[in-house]
Amino acid sequence: ALQATRLHKAYNDVEVLGAVSLAIEPGEVVSVIGPSGSGKTTLIRLLIGLEQIDNGEICINGQPFIQLTREGAQRPRFVEHAQHRLNIGMVFQSFNLFPHLNVLDNLLLAPRYHRLAPVAELRQQAFELLHKVGMLEHAYKYPQQLSGGQQQRVAIARALMMRPQIMLFDEPTSALDPEKVHEVLQVMETLAKEGITMVIVTHEMNFAFKVSDRIVFMEKGRVVCDDTPPVLRSGRHPRVEAFLKDVS
Ligand code: ATP
Repeated sequence: ALQATRLHKAYNDVEVLGAVSLAIEPGEVVSVIGPSGSGKTTLIRLLIGLEQIDNGEICINGQPFIQLTREGAQRPRFVEHAQHRLNIGMVFQSFNLFPHLNVLDNLLLAPRYHRLAPVAELRQQAFELLHKVGMLEHAYKYPQQLSGGQQQRVAIARALMMRPQIMLFDEPTSALDPEKVHEVLQVMETLAKEGITMVIVTHEMNFAFKVSDRIVFMEKGRVVCDDTPPVLRSGRHPRVEAFLKDVS
């Protein structure tokens, strides 16, 4: 489980997130939606420690991951218990594969570095994951030989190699040509059905409503509502309804 409590973040004194709290239980699929600039990407980057929080706390399985401490310091400061970062996988908008490594080596790099398992076992796992995302036949190609949709499917397999407890997706289809969006969403839907815990920042509303257990709607750096798709569709949250009408 991942628990973020009252996260604050400002850039140049401009508040981007104000007291955002979010709890993700094992097996849950949670989508984060909302207007451009509402802080969705910032939130997800805070959750994995890619940006520093200004206040608040993030716990993983009840253990502090990022917290404010006063120990040994004159002024309170944030500490990151970095070992917990390995429990979180991340898929970026722009794939971020290592360009100089082929697909298989992209998958093997981090788990080998962290000695997650013997190499033979990791290779076996890599081939299984490549099969799952439909990329087995491309195992020895380099990223630039692949389409955006293919690269993103490799990036998903690469994140899964670390056997994370939670997968974070930051607008995983927004850099793709429209005809490639579906293949990536399909892989994500498979993972969701398998019970992988996922937090997904997305502009794909139909997808979000189809796969999510909960949808978090953000606006101006706040969580406006956090509810199930049927409740959101029921019209109980007029602001969300207006947003959905705007984007459809
Ligand atoms: P979108 O849907 O367009 O991706 P978003 O909801 O993900 O938007 P964020 O990318 O989290 O929004 O950005 C929230 C606000 O923070 C924006 O006003 C953005 O300009 C600002 N911001 C984000 N990163 C930085 C940064 N590194 N420096 C300064 N401002 C930033």
